[in-house]
Order: sequence, then structure tokens, then C-alpha cells
Amino acid sequence: MTDELQDIDHSLHEIQDYRITVLLVDDQQMIAEAVRRALASEELDFHYCQNPTKAVEMATSLEPTIILQDLVMPELDGLTMVKFFRANPVTAQVPIIVLSTKEEPEIKSKAFELGANDYLVKLPDRIELIARIRYHSRAYISQKQRDEAFEALRRSQRKLAEANKVLERLSSLDGLTGVPNRRRFDQLLRKEWQRAIRHGSSISIIMLDIDFFKLFNDTYGHQGGDDCLRQVAGILEQSVRRETDMVARYGGEEFAAILPETGVKGALAVAEEMRANVEARQIPHENSKITDHVTISVGVATTVPEQGSRPDDLIAAADQALYQAKNNGRNRVQSTGFHSDSA
Ligand code: GH3
Ligand code: MG
Ligand code: MG
Repeated sequence: MTDELQDIDHSLHEIQDYRITVLLVDDQQMIAEAVRRALASEELDFHYCQNPTKAVEMATSLEPTIILQDLVMPELDGLTMVKFFRANPVTAQVPIIVLSTKEEPEIKSKAFELGANDYLVKLPDRIELIARIRYHSRAYISQKQRDEAFEALRRSQRKLAEANKVLERLSSLDGLTGVPNRRRFDQLLRKEWQRAIRHGSSISIIMLDIDFFKLFNDTYGHQGGDDCLRQVAGILEQSVRRETDMVARYGGEEFAAILPETGVKGALAVAEEMRANVEARQIPHENSKITDHVTISVGVATTVPEQGSRPDDLIAAADQALYQAKNNGRNRVQSTGFHSDSA
């Protein structure tokens, strides 16, 4: 759990800082030297590519924040280069300033059409060149950081959703036995109760309690008692068959089961199966007052709930049946006549 939360923390700190990185593509060394000098006093990285056939490759590995593209070159014309840069995923969004020898409205408009961001006539004034490099680079860096922040946020939202799922599961399970806890039991019972009302179907509850468990603890120690609870929980879970049945630890050495769409006969059968399975496991209990192994007493109650009726009444009825099972000698199943049906 803490690992997941740390991951989330990390991903929110992943947004990088970028340094302004200029790539000039121009066949004339002289221009490159002039631009280099103009930028010398600035806090930025300057790179130069003289061979346009290498420019896309170089830009891909360099990841510049701005490209200065000469328009007239012997091997490849600058407009074609703009097209190449736009077609390459790494440079598709990188701002491009085209450098022309003169003002040519037609070429200018063609350059913008192909995706250039700015147009300068060589050699531009130093102040203006720096201002434009900074302006375009900053806009590009901000966009990149926004994208990264958004991606990090989506990642952490996904992780948070996963962590919540784990948390939800953990908070609905009993820590000792791994079966659903009382909280989950109450939740599911309310849900199934409403469903039974809507469908006019029956619902049964089983309440059960380990016989002479205080004596078990006294004999085998608390640790031994915990082991026994885990074993019994496992046996009970194996004793219910339907997907919708649920066994929960109700508290202490008491367990409860919800059996939706189950009438008296069905519920009694499950209860008897539970009792018999626990007995068949023959967990030693030498100080039990009725036998020499662990046994359970089981109470069953069934009803077809009506609008306005409360699940607590059914629990009370199952509790009452359990009490009778204890009184009648333990290691037995008892049901109450609470709204019994014949299903
Ligand atoms: P009965 O047959 O009438 O049910 O007798 P009992 O001794 O089982 O009933 P009682 O309610 O007097 O004792 C329940 C015991 O269960 C007492 C308590 O210490 C023990 N117990 C409850 N929760 C736990 C648990 O989590 N672990 C262990 N080891 N023991 C528990
Ligand atoms: Mg008890
Ligand atoms: Mg008991």
C-alpha cells in the first residue's frame, strides 16, 4: 500500500525542466558562425547541422526546443525540410523558424502552410533573434510540461484507483480468517434484503457459534484458538455452494451466512452441512463437555421480507435459534418459525 502511494508521489514529481536547445540547419558555415556569436551570451545550447539530409536524424536525437531552418540549400529546399520535421513524431511539435534571404510573400505563406511557426530574413537583428528563440522555446517547453503533468496525473489517478480497490477489499475482510467481516456482512445483507423485497423471494440467515470455545482457548492457548477459527472459517466457506452465498465472521467465535433466494429447507441443508463438515474435521477439543473435538451450534432463520421490514429482525431470529441449539445440547442445527416458507 505505501509502495503504491510512493509511486503516486513520484509520478507527480516527474515533470522535467528543459533547457532551451537550438538546432540551426543551414548549408553555409558562415551563417552558423554568425548565429553562434549572436547567441554566445545566452543561457542556451546551440547546435548546428550543415547537411540537411542528416537534419531530421540529428533533431530526433537532440530534441531541440527550436529549429532554425534555412530555406535555400543546394541539396534539399527548406520547405521540404519543414515537411519532414512535421512528419516526424519527435519533431512534429517543435517550433520552426524559417530563415530566408529576402521577404518573399509566396514562400512565406507556403512555409506557414507547411507548419513553420515564424519567418525571419537573414541575418536577423540579434535582439530579435534571441527574443523569438526564447518566445517559441518557452511556449514549446510549457506545452511539453503540461502534457507530462497531465500524463503523470492520469498515471497517478490509475494507481489511486488500484490502491482504493485494494483498500476496499482489505477493509471488508476479517484480518484473522480472511473471510468477509461484519461490516461487509451488514452491507451485503442490506443489499440482498432490498433485492428480496423487490423480487418477493425468500432469504435465509445462518448464525453459528463454536461450542465451549472458551475452554478451547484455556486448553490450547489463544494462538491455538486463532488457528481453530481459521480452520472453521475455511470449512464454512467450503460448505456454501452458490455464488451469491456469503460466509462472514460476525465477531469473536461467531460466524454468519447470508443465503439469498433460499427457503427453510435449503438453509437447513446448508446449516447441517456446515455442522457435519466441522465435526468431520475432528479438530481435537479434549475439554469440550459434549465430545472430544470441535463442534458448532447453528441457528437458521428464513423470511420473505416485506416492504418496511428490517434485516435486524431476521438476525435476531437466527440468534434465537442458535440460543435454542445451545440449550438443546449444542452440536446441532435449530431453526425458528420466523415467517417460514416451504421453498
Ligand atoms: P458456548 O458453547 O456456550 O458458546 O461456550 P463458549 O465458551 O464458546 O462461549 P463464550 O462466549 O463464553 O466464549 C467465547 C470465547 O471465544 C471467549 C473468547 O476468549 C473467545 N474468542 C473470541 N474471539 C476470539 C479470537 O479472535 N481468538 C481466540 N483465540 N479466541 C476468541
Ligand atoms: Mg460466543
Ligand atoms: Mg461459543
